[in-house]
Amino acid sequence: MFDLDYCSYPDCKKKVRTGSRLCEDHQSWQSVEHFSSLMTEKDLIGDIKAPGLTFKNLDLRNKRFIDCYFHHTQWINCHFDRSIFQMCFFDESVFMDTSFTKVNMKHCVFTDSVMTNIDWHGSDLISVNLNNIHAVNNNFSESDLYYSRFIAAYLKDVKMIDCNLKRVDFSASQRKGVNFKYSNTAEAYFDTEEIQ
Ligand SMILES: [Zn+2]
Repeated sequence: MFDLDYCSYPDCKKKVRTGSRLCEDHQSWQSVEHFSSLMTEKDLIGDIKAPGLTFKNLDLRNKRFIDCYFHHTQWINCHFDRSIFQMCFFDESVFMDTSFTKVNMKHCVFTDSVMTNIDWHGSDLISVNLNNIHAVNNNFSESDLYYSRFIAAYLKDVKMIDCNLKRVDFSASQRKGVNFKYSNTAEAYFDTEEIQ
């Protein structure tokens, strides 16, 4: 015999087993609330593990993220401008209408992520793994992308104007409407032509 209780999420009428406060639909809501307020309140965000969550409308500017694990997350209308990132994992994630302008990022992983309408301009993105990303309307202009990898990435309407592309790897990438004006493409690695 189980006693049944009601989910404590506002207006949720679902029953839950005694001992759990929230129904299955609202378990992640509790985590999202928890991590959102933690990240908003702190300046140093270290060793957070928050996979699989969806974050919306967060102001995360001027933060320092170290050793964070955000595998398979979604970020919608979030702003990370002027933040510092070291060893953070955002693989298989979705980013939409989000900004990373003037960030300093080293050894971070975005493999297999989908990125739509993202502003990265004026950033240092050093040794960042962007392999197999699907990026549409991203602006990396005036950034240092030294030793970052875009292997097998799909890049459409992407701006990389006046960027440092030394040792940047674009092998097996698909590119359509990528603007490399004033960037040192001769120092990057390409083995495919732009799609017309
Ligand atoms: Zn509920």
